[in-house]
Amino acid sequence: MRDFRADLHCHTTFSDGTCTPFEIIDKAAKIPLQGLSITDHDTIDAYITAIPYAKGKGIDLLPGVEFSSVHGPESVHILAYGFAIDNPLILEFCQKHQRRRKQRNLLILEKLKQFKMPVTEEEMSQAIPTNIPGLKQTIGRPHIAQAMVNKGYISSVNEAFIKYLGEGKICYAPGPSFTAEETIHIIHKAGGLAIIAHPHLLENTKVIKELLELPFDGLEAYYARMLPHAEKKWVKIAEKRKWLVTGGSDFHGTIKPNLDLGCSWVNEDTFNFIKSHYLKNLSL
Ligand code: AMP
Ligand code: ZN
Ligand code: FE
Ligand code: FE
Repeated sequence: MRDFRADLHCHTTFSDGTCTPFEIIDKAAKIPLQGLSITDHDTIDAYITAIPYAKGKGIDLLPGVEFSSVHGPESVHILAYGFAIDNPLILEFCQKHQRRRKQRNLLILEKLKQFKMPVTEEEMSQAIPTNIPGLKQTIGRPHIAQAMVNKGYISSVNEAFIKYLGEGKICYAPGPSFTAEETIHIIHKAGGLAIIAHPHLLENTKVIKELLELPFDGLEAYYARMLPHAEKKWVKIAEKRKWLVTGGSDFHGTIKPNLDLGCSWVNEDTFNFIKSHYLKNLSL
């Protein structure tokens, strides 16, 4: 097998990353990576321009997206791959998530006001510049955290999560949500593959047990700077279920420092398996 690396998990300015899709593709070409999936939160809009740009740079770019969901008390991130970017079910689900986020973000801003750290909607939505006029960016807690840094309430995005915005912290608000089961169902109806993102971050053992019984297609065992022994555990779990083992950096640029694009990756076989789904959906 030729030396092939594909990073299947990263974020751009279309959601909460600080690099544009073009900048990420340029970085991938420089490393070099041969394959890439941009998995912005709840949007696939980056692909319209990123697909032709990646082609020009010799990067094989496969559509992907990261959806937030819940299972019982725990928040579960689900990666979807292999769908066509004009799939109406995926596009509609992204829009539903945008509406969910809008309500949830307002609840968080309300809490910040109560704690004497007001952030306006404008300050939130401009916290991560896109350099693309009129771009519909997915706004999330990293934007709120960055706005809090900009206003001098705290000294880092990480501190904002640790003290205020992380799950269960004083300014956190879950807002409306979709279940993991609903999310898998929609991804499957769209012809895509549903993968449990960063499973090692799940805390509740009952939730993990139940998730492993759901009809996922795979899990993300290779993640960011995970230690080899932790990876092995998840590879074993996936193999037992005949699930796909995926991997990626979860690169976000400067908003999540010390994590480089390409620090976790998958080989050509895994990449081609997902690509075959994608090509099948394209030809439908
Ligand atoms: P949201 O999508 O709005 O619920 O925000 C969750 C996102 O915040 C995650 O997907 C991460 O990208 C990001 N995040 C979580 N914890 C941190 C942290 N400590 N520092 C920076 N970003 C974080
Ligand atoms: Zn993110
Ligand atoms: Fe995630
Ligand atoms: Fe992510």
